[in-house]
Amino acid sequence: MNEPIPQLSSYDEPSLDAAFATLAEEVRSETSAPHDAEVFRLRWLSRKQGRLKLVSDAWLKSAPSEARKPLGLRFNQLKQQIEAVLADAAASPAVPAAKVGIDITLPGSVRAPGIPHPLLKTMQEIVAVFHRLGYSTALGPQVETDFYNFEALNFPPNHPARDTQDTLVVAGQQSRPSRDRLLMRTHTSPVQIRTMVAQAPPVRIVVPGKVHRNDAADATHSPVFHQVEGLCVDTNITFSDLKGTLDHAMKALFGSSVKTRFFPSFFPFTEPSADVQISCIFCAGKGCRKCKHSGWIELLGCGMVDPAVFASVTAERRKTNPADDAYNPERVTGFAFGMGVERIAMVQHGTSEIGHFYSGDMRFLEQFA
Ligand SMILES: [Zn+2]
Repeated sequence: MNEPIPQLSSYDEPSLDAAFATLAEEVRSETSAPHDAEVFRLRWLSRKQGRLKLVSDAWLKSAPSEARKPLGLRFNQLKQQIEAVLADAAASPAVPAAKVGIDITLPGSVRAPGIPHPLLKTMQEIVAVFHRLGYSTALGPQVETDFYNFEALNFPPNHPARDTQDTLVVAGQQSRPSRDRLLMRTHTSPVQIRTMVAQAPPVRIVVPGKVHRNDAADATHSPVFHQVEGLCVDTNITFSDLKGTLDHAMKALFGSSVKTRFFPSFFPFTEPSADVQISCIFCAGKGCRKCKHSGWIELLGCGMVDPAVFASVTAERRKTNPADDAYNPERVTGFAFGMGVERIAMVQHGTSEIGHFYSGDMRFLEQFA
């Protein structure tokens, strides 16, 4: 494909200038129109048939010794011109493919696959632990009504979590009855109510999702964060089932040597309620800075479903079926638990700064690929 290089009639400097100017003009005219950089590179720099190789064969080898230096100088200038064109092409490879044609035998350009965000990964890990226990995933809206977010979950009207300090409410709702007013859900618990209203026991659901609170961002708080919540309702469900389930889940997430312990706590929608701590995974319970030298890390809340919650669910279900008695607390019991995904991820990865997860800094995020 390469036309032959004409023999030089003379090796004096004007003849050399003229011969190399022709080649330089050839390079310029080839690269002024859209062209394929790789075709251009092969045409000029190919070791076997490239035009530079032909020039070297035709002119340099037979040159008289006094012409070697001026010839070599011009040869190098031409080579630099070609390399500069190729460097430009590498910096901006945007040659319209339609104009140069596509060589389908060339290797494709590989786009680096993305990685799951570490929070998403942790959330999926938690959900997977419960899937293996027979739970299914339930999802619900992030914009919720007061009824599902608070009222049905037994939050008294003066409960501090309803305070506008904590809850982001949708503006312009004053004309609506209080149960229909919209807000950003403060926890994933409304999905428990939605599920029980729609479905009779047995219920085993795990609820991952985004929640919103009017919290100032600091090292451990963010106004938007993620929870995974679980609910199990059936006959003969006891606190022992709750303890065994969560003990298994914590061992699945943090390793089989992790111990759990339960402390009395308070949540409006469970009675009794408990906070769950795991033995510190950094010091194996000996005491370190991460666990504030207690040997334990608090990770989640849980409890037995309060009969008042079943009563709210039953009242809703009776709107469509007045005889409904599926959630009679004399017959069914249940437990619920909830954990912050950020909290779990921070313990898993040993970071004490929640902001890292939201920063978009690839140096941080790529560590968990
Ligand atoms: Zn520790």
